[in-house]
Amino acid sequence: MDHSATTPTDPEVLGVMMPYYGNHYGNPSSIHTLGREAREAVDHARQQVAGLIGADSSEIVFTAGGTEADNLAVLGAALAFPAPKRHVITSAIEHHAVLNPCRHLESIGFQVTYLPVDVWGRVNIKDVKQSLTKQTCLISIMHANNELGTLEPLAEIGMMARKCNVAFHTDAVQTVGRIPVNVDELRVDLLSLSSHKIYGPKGAGALYVRKGITLRPLMYGGQQESGRRTGTENVPGIAGLGKACEIAGRDLMDRIAYIRYLRDRLENGITINMDDIRINTHPEEHLPHVLNVSFTGIAGEKLVRELDMKGISVSSGAACTADSV
Ligand code: PLP
Repeated sequence: MDHSATTPTDPEVLGVMMPYYGNHYGNPSSIHTLGREAREAVDHARQQVAGLIGADSSEIVFTAGGTEADNLAVLGAALAFPAPKRHVITSAIEHHAVLNPCRHLESIGFQVTYLPVDVWGRVNIKDVKQSLTKQTCLISIMHANNELGTLEPLAEIGMMARKCNVAFHTDAVQTVGRIPVNVDELRVDLLSLSSHKIYGPKGAGALYVRKGITLRPLMYGGQQESGRRTGTENVPGIAGLGKACEIAGRDLMDRIAYIRYLRDRLENGITINMDDIRINTHPEEHLPHVLNVSFTGIAGEKLVRELDMKGISVSSGAACTADSV
């Protein structure tokens, strides 16, 4: 019940990854046969990821997960703009992988507007419009919130961003592979996704970068990923991410129908049988697999522990906001 935190790796995905830990261990930058095999795996995965989101394969940059993709988008895009373009717009409910890069930008002289959201966690388009200034270089609004499951009005924001020549990023870690996602329909320039949310391996992800968008890299080294993300590629992880995207695209509609049925049944059961509850997820604009409920009079952590003892995993907040040891 906690697959927004992470998912198990699909055996089909594991099957594709294993050879790259074994005999096919080549470095994709080597020109001999072993290297070329690894390069082919990376290129194939790039097509699989691009195919799932309606992008061109040249627009996909592999990263070590959603957090790195968000950092590369926010820092990389903002820092690529020349001064005085030093204003960023985001929302108060973004994942820390967006909020903390924004705070870093503030510490080096950028201005950041953190937009409020309504009771369902939705950004108001009017607030975005009113916040735009001549200095705005980047808007970063998540596609769907990881705790609430509420979807944000991206296409409208994207239209505004394009009119004003502002780069538009979305953190789509919770939506890619869960609902149909198309970068042109959403009108985004940058989009982050993560493998382990969609039955792929942990530590793999990607950033979609629309042609023409300039990024300043976060790290300096070799020319992998066209210089936008240096370091020898995580070939097994990338191959696994590619396969996870292929499977997600293939089974998407069946999975949506099944998970929506389960989610709605749970929501109805809770609503009919319990008093003093509040559904926090937007009633229509939500992901098919996320339900956020408040239960009056019981601490979230107590409920999580009690359900855990019955073998049911739920969360009272994002896993990555919990204290680490
Ligand atoms: N963004 C959102 C909305 C998430 O839910 C997560 C993961 O919890 C991330 C970013 C970070 O992704 P990763 O765990 O791949 O670094």
